[in-house]
Amino acid sequence: MEAEVLIVGAGPVGLTLAVELARYGVTVRIVDKAAQRSDKSKALAVWSRTLELLDRSGCAATLVAAGKQVAAANIVAGGKTIGRVELGGVKSPHPYALMLPQSETERLLEAHLNGLGVQVERGLKLVRFTDRADSVTATLRHYDGSEEKIQSQWLVGCDGAHSAVRDGMRMVFTGDTPPCTWVLAEVRLQGLRNPGEIEVGWHADGMLAIFPIAGERYQVIADMGPSQTAEGQPDPALSDVQALLDKRGRGGVRASEPGWLTKFRVNERKVENYRRGHVFLAGDAAHVYSPAGAQGMNTGMQDAFNLAWKLALVCRGICQEEPLLDGYSSERSEVGEQVLKTTGRIASLALVHGDLKQTMRNYIASLVFGFSPARSAMADTISEVSIEYPHSPMNVQGSKFFQHPAAGERVPMREGEAPIGAGDRPRFVLCADISEVTARSAAAVLVGLYGQLAEETVRAPFGEGGMWLVRPDGYVALVTRAGEWDDVAAYLDRLARRR
Ligand SMILES: Cc1cc2nc3c(=O)[nH]c(=O)nc-3n(C[C@H](O)[C@H](O)[C@H](O)COP(=O)(O)OP(=O)(O)OC[C@H]3O[C@@H](n4cnc5c(N)ncnc54)[C@H](O)[C@@H]3O)c2cc1C
Repeated sequence: MEAEVLIVGAGPVGLTLAVELARYGVTVRIVDKAAQRSDKSKALAVWSRTLELLDRSGCAATLVAAGKQVAAANIVAGGKTIGRVELGGVKSPHPYALMLPQSETERLLEAHLNGLGVQVERGLKLVRFTDRADSVTATLRHYDGSEEKIQSQWLVGCDGAHSAVRDGMRMVFTGDTPPCTWVLAEVRLQGLRNPGEIEVGWHADGMLAIFPIAGERYQVIADMGPSQTAEGQPDPALSDVQALLDKRGRGGVRASEPGWLTKFRVNERKVENYRRGHVFLAGDAAHVYSPAGAQGMNTGMQDAFNLAWKLALVCRGICQEEPLLDGYSSERSEVGEQVLKTTGRIASLALVHGDLKQTMRNYIASLVFGFSPARSAMADTISEVSIEYPHSPMNVQGSKFFQHPAAGERVPMREGEAPIGAGDRPRFVLCADISEVTARSAAAVLVGLYGQLAEETVRAPFGEGGMWLVRPDGYVALVTRAGEWDDVAAYLDRLARRR
């Protein structure tokens, strides 16, 4: 076997997966058909939950140092702010949106990966693969046309929206391509009312979103209304961008020094199942969204975090394949479905046509935005801290008595503590409301029984009388009463590999 895991595609999702697997000691190969890394800004926003997970990988700090922290997003209609979502109240060590061009995110992830001893193999295109009983054989084509076969235990398609892996799995990519062309422009902007913040303009002609990059540089995205194809249409010029800002924005904003100017189409699609046999899909290969919610890259990177610890536990021979590996598909497919709905809603709100409908939308939106719990809920949704796995087949809610965090919920991050899941071993951590001594000796017995699956360190509990088993990605696996060691043992026993 040449690699335990072959990753196809070195975009942000493939790189995140490679970083996670490499830190857990899994042998990976990661290939990309492109000769060089992309230099395009595309996804700018790295949201709070993604940064929390990157903290575990040890690379959040590097990204944070390179990016720009943005504290709020404003919704503007008719030249007025009708809503403002503050991210400072998000309960996370990263209560902001980190603005970092996708090209930089990829560069920093790749540097981190190189530090873990793995190099991206570029100019290697997956052309086909065969999934056998216990491994996958992939055929890769070099630039000179020569072909190479790689045998791996697992194959993960992180190869983007036009995924060859998805085609090879014969997965249907269900959804729509709305008949609308979008433009993207990187420009210098002067005269903004809230410089350094995100601004989303709702206008009768369509939406206009402004994302800060650094200093006075911004990314402007706008939909250009119905059209059957973006093919043959010219890329926007600076004068087009200025016209959009004048018509759809608050006015008084001047665009200059254009960088990347382009147009694109949006797809809203998803596969139903993220796994078939030894082959998985993650990121845009599994789901694509409207850019209106800026969620695509973040959701994809979180697919990678979810899959990595499960594959690592299986590759290390600590866990059997089920329910972990099918759990990846059911957990992330449900999240993918929710994000599809949320970004679809955001897009359809922004793209309402007709004067009366727009007046009503603006009126209702200003009422909703005026309501503080609604603003907090929106901040939690876009920052992705509200992503949870309430219906996961891996959850065990041993006691209804302890409501939060319930099985499937994200555990609160604690000031000054290393995040659960950091380090080089994927392991479950016990948080128990019993004396340290009792807990430690009981946990030691469990560790003895379940090898490296459970962590001996006992952390403070989340409530009186309860006991929580937390997964390597910081979600609650099991909740039970303090001292119910049989529940913990039964949970770990279900995962542990039979010897
Ligand atoms: C204009 C724009 C703005 C966006 N803004 C945001 C945002 O603010 N926030 C957000 O979260 N998302 C945003 N997105 C979405 C985001 O860019 C994507 O979701 C993200 O790039 C997906 O990452 P990925 O790694 O899954 O796929 P990709 O980035 O597409 O990477 C796939 C890689 O696979 C390689 N590959 C493909 N086929 C093969 C093959 N057969 N063999 C080998 N290699 C192969 C490709 O060369 C590529 O490097 C935006 C997208 C666009 C277009």
